[in-house]
Amino acid sequence: RAKSEGRGTYRFFEPKMGVQVRERRLLEHDMRHAVARGEMHLVYQPQTDVKDGAVIGFEVLLRWQHPQRGAASPAMFIPIAEESGAILQIGEWVLREACREAATWTNPLKIAVNVSGVQLHAPHFAQLVHEVLFQTGLKPERLEIEITETALIRDPGRAQSTLRQLKALGVRIAMDDFGTGYSSLSNLRAYPFDKIKIDSSFIRAVDDNEQAAAIVRSVLGLGRGLGLPVLAEGVETQAQLSFLAEEKCHAAQGYLMGRPARIDAFTALTHGAAAAASEGALVA
Ligand code: C2E
Ligand code: MG
Ligand code: MG
Ligand code: MG
Repeated sequence: RAKSEGRGTYRFFEPKMGVQVRERRLLEHDMRHAVARGEMHLVYQPQTDVKDGAVIGFEVLLRWQHPQRGAASPAMFIPIAEESGAILQIGEWVLREACREAATWTNPLKIAVNVSGVQLHAPHFAQLVHEVLFQTGLKPERLEIEITETALIRDPGRAQSTLRQLKALGVRIAMDDFGTGYSSLSNLRAYPFDKIKIDSSFIRAVDDNEQAAAIVRSVLGLGRGLGLPVLAEGVETQAQLSFLAEEKCHAAQGYLMGRPARIDAFTALTHGAAAAASEGALVA
C-alpha cells in the first residue's frame, strides 16, 4: 500500500510501522495549518532554451519550512497531502500565489505549476484555474500545468475532459517525468499534451550509459514526430547539456542552469529586459 503512493514514501513507511503511522498523523495535522501559518513558500527554477541558454520560464516548486522539523521535501509531504486531501487547499494556494507573482513581472516569462492527480480529478478544477487567471490577470498562455502520467489513471475520461477544458482556456499542458509512468506512448496520443519533460533519471545517465542516451534520443524523435517540444529535467553537467544540444533537445532545466530559489533571486530576469536572459543573469 505505502509503495503505491509514489517515490519518496518508501523510507517513510518501511521501518517501525507504528511510529511511522503516528508521525504521519502529526504531519497531516501540521500540514492542515501550514499555509495559514505562512510556513509554505514557493521557489522558482529556470527553464532555458538549449540553443542559446535564454531563460524561457520557471518551474514553480513548493517548500515547507516546518517550525520544529525544518525543511520538508515535497517528495515526502505531497503524497501525504494527496492522501489526506490537504493537497486541494495547498495546490490552490500554489496556483494563486504563482499566478499572482508572475502577473507582476515586466518580462512575460512562463510559469510551470505542478498539479496533482487529486486536483485534476476534483470537480471544477478547470473553473478554478479560470478564476485564478481572471483574478490575477495572468495571461493563460503564460501558464503551463505539469501533470505526471500517474495523475491520469484514476479516471482517464475525466482527466481527459479536464485537460481539454484547460486547453480551451489557453493554458499549456506538459507531461512531467516522462518515461517513469505507464503506457507513455498511448497517453501522448490520448491526452492533449503540449510538451514532454524527460525524467531526470535518463538525463543523469547519458554521460556514461549508452542505453540512457538511446532512450533520450528516441524521446526526442518521438517529440519531433508528434510535434511536441521536449524539455530535459535534471541537467547537472556541461556534458549532458552538450549532448542535448547535439540531439536538438529544445529546453532544459537543472542545477547547471540554476537551482530553485526564491523569486527575488531572479529580479534581473523577471523585471529586466528580455535580453538579460542570455547574459548570465543567473546567480542562483
Ligand atoms: P518535479 O515536478 O519533477 O520537479 C523537479 C524536481 O527536480 C524538483 O525537486 C527540483 O528541485 C529537482 N531538480 C531540478 N533540477 C535538478 C538537478 O539538476 N538535479 C537534481 N538532483 N534535482 C533537480 P523538488 O522541488 O524536491 O520536488 C519534488 C517533486 O515534488 C516534484 O517533482 C513534484 O512532483 C512535487 N512537487 C513540488 N512542488 C509541487 C507542487 O506545488 N504541487 C505538486 N502537486 N507537486 C509538487
Ligand atoms: Mg514538475
Ligand atoms: Mg519532473
Ligand atoms: Mg515529479
